[in-house]
Amino acid sequence: MSDHHEKAKVQFDLMKSSGEGADPETEVEPEQVAPTDASASLSPGTDHIRLTLRRETSRASVNGRNRSKSRGKQSSRDRNTNTKQGSDPVRHKPTDCGPGKGVPQSPDSDQTLQIKGTEKILQATTQANGTAEQLKVGKAVHEKDEGRKIAKKRRSITVDTSKAKTSLEALKLSIKQLKWKEFPMGRRTACDIYWHGVSFHDSENIVSGQVNKFPGMIEMLRKINLSRAVRTMQELFPEEYNFYPRSWILPEELQHFCAQIRLLKEKEPTLKPTFIVKPDSGSQGDGIYLIRDPADLRVISGSQVKQAVVQEYIQKPLLIDKLKFDVRLYVLVRSLEPLEIYIAKEGLSRFCTEPYQEPSQKNLSHVFMHLTNYSLNVHSGNFVHSDSCSTGSKRTFSSVLYRLASKGVDIKKVWSDIIALVIKTVIALVPELKVYYQADIPPGKPGPTCFQILGFDILLMKNLKPVLLEVNANPSMRIEHEQEVSPGVYEYVPSPVDEEVKVSVIRDTLRLMDPAQRKPHLSNLLGGAPEEAVIVEAGLDEKAEFVQSLPSLCLKQVFPKYMKQFNYLRIVEQIADMFLRFLGVKGTMKLGPTSFRTFIRNCKLSNSSFSMASVDILYIDITRRWAGMASDSRESGMCLQAFVEAFIYLASRRFKALPLREQVLSLLELCDAALEGQAHDEKPRPQKHHSNLNPAPAVSEAPSALGSSAHARHHLDCRGHQALQPSAKENVEN
Ligand code: ADP
Repeated sequence: MSDHHEKAKVQFDLMKSSGEGADPETEVEPEQVAPTDASASLSPGTDHIRLTLRRETSRASVNGRNRSKSRGKQSSRDRNTNTKQGSDPVRHKPTDCGPGKGVPQSPDSDQTLQIKGTEKILQATTQANGTAEQLKVGKAVHEKDEGRKIAKKRRSITVDTSKAKTSLEALKLSIKQLKWKEFPMGRRTACDIYWHGVSFHDSENIVSGQVNKFPGMIEMLRKINLSRAVRTMQELFPEEYNFYPRSWILPEELQHFCAQIRLLKEKEPTLKPTFIVKPDSGSQGDGIYLIRDPADLRVISGSQVKQAVVQEYIQKPLLIDKLKFDVRLYVLVRSLEPLEIYIAKEGLSRFCTEPYQEPSQKNLSHVFMHLTNYSLNVHSGNFVHSDSCSTGSKRTFSSVLYRLASKGVDIKKVWSDIIALVIKTVIALVPELKVYYQADIPPGKPGPTCFQILGFDILLMKNLKPVLLEVNANPSMRIEHEQEVSPGVYEYVPSPVDEEVKVSVIRDTLRLMDPAQRKPHLSNLLGGAPEEAVIVEAGLDEKAEFVQSLPSLCLKQVFPKYMKQFNYLRIVEQIADMFLRFLGVKGTMKLGPTSFRTFIRNCKLSNSSFSMASVDILYIDITRRWAGMASDSRESGMCLQAFVEAFIYLASRRFKALPLREQVLSLLELCDAALEGQAHDEKPRPQKHHSNLNPAPAVSEAPSALGSSAHARHHLDCRGHQALQPSAKENVEN
């Protein structure tokens, strides 16, 4: 750790400890503040353009009067749940969706507790000093201390729900089940958890606690960026990442796509591949269409070239009752550093509403046959709403697995393949997420820590292989669905299957994010509240009984649990750590030319055959190309993806004879050795020697804590675990 960083960390720790004394957080009454964002309680308006016109008329009424009517209905439910804690029984509506999940009666969480250890220390003090005065002071300190600790123990976990938007309903139920405290209008003092409906930036200036969104997640999960991130991994690990359909990014790869398809058809004239075109920022099936010929691409919209992904269409999905379906799984990324991933044991299966046929020119536009989106199929006349979780057009995933098992399918294998898909996908996203994280929450500055529930959309192929369709940064957490109550009139009505799955996911996410459960680790030190650890110790005993009365967690940890099987995949993350190290902590996301030169120089990568002039040309060349591809190029410089490309290029130059993956690993090793050597050389030098040297650019003096320490650790992990790479057939577990 550099001096600079050490200093920043000490300052930060001091800030934290002084803050602790100033704000004991003991209030019992909620301190509500008026919402600053008038739209906070409104659901995001979506007006969808679809493949067919069939549903447009009914949609119009959904977006109009009846939607606001149902919002009214919702707010009355909200009011019910806003009553004082304890006065309102936990809502428990029996459904046939599983065992009753009502929370059993539990001891009042407002009980006072003895804190072990405090008395002993005080006794020792008084014995040693002996005087009455000292005794008095000691007693006062004791009382104050006890008061503070008891107050801490008494307070329940606070959740700011003012920006929760459409997840509000499920969130309220979850908070209630946990007997936590909700602040629906926000709060003047800090909350433990901030629940945002859309993005990390839904509320600004949060300096502590935890936010349920990572900076940059929305951007990373746009279809183009996800495809890019997975593609980088596919280049390094083609077999491991073959769960993502072959994709081309439009418009930049249009020519490439056309040429490849032409070639394919020339080679095999009988082959009739189908492709699915997805607009970059679309969701819920918006603007999606199928094609069989590149000439059918709708590349231009108005005067603009459309940003989209065109993807190989999976022609042989697994069918149930002749219908195509997909799986929505909820995945919690609990922390980036260290990486922690949980998967919900229960998910949703969403069914098409028209029997499936392999794509032909005739049926290409049949959305209810090819697209499984709930938001589309709910408007087909054939959508079946069911109170049962194992029938109808939306069912629990477990009911589907149960059915498959009854037909002899090895569902353990299906489940373990899904776990592997999820872990590998998150590993592909982490490098860039770290860059966003550091830009928004620079190490050494107070800020919240983050976690996020993601919605993975997975298709099972006929041969049961799972395929990743997309990942949603904001999966719908609605527990109501639209229903046509009379022709053309839609209303929101409670949906038992949604409630069953989603409330458990939110509730158990909260349980996992309970500050009392979280041990301090690197990310806490970067932005969290260190004193949380104190509350942990103090609160565990009293909570134990209540916690035990809750249903068992529906979220299952898969990482670091399966770290050994997957750590070898984290090569790009190591490149990102290198990038972060030279980026510094100035809140930027792009590397300037000087920093890139510093990287080359410090890692000793230039030599007689690769001069610094060539380095500059490489920088300009790659940076310019990536700037042209990025939709957002406000900040100039080299983005992470460009740096990864430059790194891979340097690796391939240097280690020509090796396979690509080995090239990259070898270059990483080389860089590490050079940087370690440099640190070693610099350490013993007395300060005054530096005065004669050119001052090194700030970037090399201020490596990020996230980057440098992480780098060292992952470096070890990845090298160490190479030998542990599992065979392709190895199951993860069920
Ligand atoms: P959106 O975000 O608009 O829902 P998706 O990528 O999830 O976009 O695609 C919408 C639907 O299209 C999916 O739910 C699935 O039914 C179908 N789909 C998407 N990609 C493929 C594919 N490669 N092969 C087959 N079906 C697909």
